[in-house]
Amino acid sequence: MRRIYFDYAASTPIDPEVLKEINSNLRDNFGNSGSLHYFGQKAMATVDKSREIIAKSINADFREIVFTGSATEANNLALRGALKAKNQNLKIKNKNNNLKLKNVLNFKPRIIVSNIEHESILETARDLEKEGAEIIYLPVDKNGVVDLKKLEKALNERTVLVSIICANNETGVIQPIAKISEIIRNFREKRHSNPYTLNPIPYFHTDAVQAFQFLDCNIKNLGVDLMTLSAHKIYGPKGIGALYARTLHSTPYILYPIITGGGQEFGLRSGTENTVAITGFAKAIELANENRQKEKKRIFLLSQYFFKEIKKIIPSAQLNAERAERLPNILNIAFPGYDAESLLIKFDLNGIAVSRGSACMARSSQSSYVLKEMGLSENQQRSSLRFSFGRFTTKEEMSSALKIIKKILK
Ligand code: PLP
Repeated sequence: MRRIYFDYAASTPIDPEVLKEINSNLRDNFGNSGSLHYFGQKAMATVDKSREIIAKSINADFREIVFTGSATEANNLALRGALKAKNQNLKIKNKNNNLKLKNVLNFKPRIIVSNIEHESILETARDLEKEGAEIIYLPVDKNGVVDLKKLEKALNERTVLVSIICANNETGVIQPIAKISEIIRNFREKRHSNPYTLNPIPYFHTDAVQAFQFLDCNIKNLGVDLMTLSAHKIYGPKGIGALYARTLHSTPYILYPIITGGGQEFGLRSGTENTVAITGFAKAIELANENRQKEKKRIFLLSQYFFKEIKKIIPSAQLNAERAERLPNILNIAFPGYDAESLLIKFDLNGIAVSRGSACMARSSQSSYVLKEMGLSENQQRSSLRFSFGRFTTKEEMSSALKIIKKILK
């Protein structure tokens, strides 16, 4: 049976050029990047070259890219690390200013996230809540866009971090990151200096895992302090992510490590660097940069064609978040009267791979919290499927899939 893959938002196949890069490094570049001899230096040079490529592609400095074991880990580092840094900075301030000690100890940190973040942000936020942080969950409107008025109201002196996803993994809805950054910047400037910490908080983090392929993720244009990237969503290997972490002149980093040990990654993420995966990641980034505009247009046209054909088969089919600005590769479609889970199984039995939403929730019987937060009814949530396309999707493949889908739906 021919297999058709429409789940690129869950993971992407390795690009042949990335594979070539990985294979040659897997064989020849085995040294520990921390070692002083030839083999170690060779590994370190490869890691550094990859770091430079990734930094350049988002307009960051070389030292601002921290490799992690996944985007999940990068998101954890952003949230937990920023909170830890705040505590460390407080300690410095305590030493110099004992009078503030009482005040400082009463400082309950606030983190602001949206209700439609990826689980790696939401679950981390919930965990930090248990540890005493105050978490504000921002609602989204019916188009899946974060409420900026509520964000403005939620910012206070105690806010350490705001984390808003750049483009959602279930709906593809793009958030107004530059506008959010402006709101945060204005808040910071109005307050001038924070009485509690040495660094100008709140910081702004965005999870750009899904967005990077199609959007300009220049950190200066977006105005973010922290940004998460992942290789396996852009035709690179699994098990490698990166966090962009802005450096400040007064203190080197706005984060403290959550994984300690040998001090790799400028002390922010210990553990021997995964040289092979890192080189694959850098190659994937280069390819994404080369093809971004062309691919965006091609996939947009393919997606439009696909949905038009779906409407011909099931006229009541609804594109969720239709009015929002969205990534071109994700179509989250409600099929009224159908149960998405049984559709998914039928599609798979006929060779078509799609999903109900995030891969992390695939084994759960719960329907999508993202669609729920957008105000979709239980029935709409339960009848929605995510189709996501990518570099190897062709019109011919779509036509074949549509024939099969027509048979199943009718
Ligand atoms: N953030 C978003 C938006 C994602 O879509 C994913 C992957 O599903 C992740 C984070 C987690 O990525 P990783 O699998 O590299 O941990």
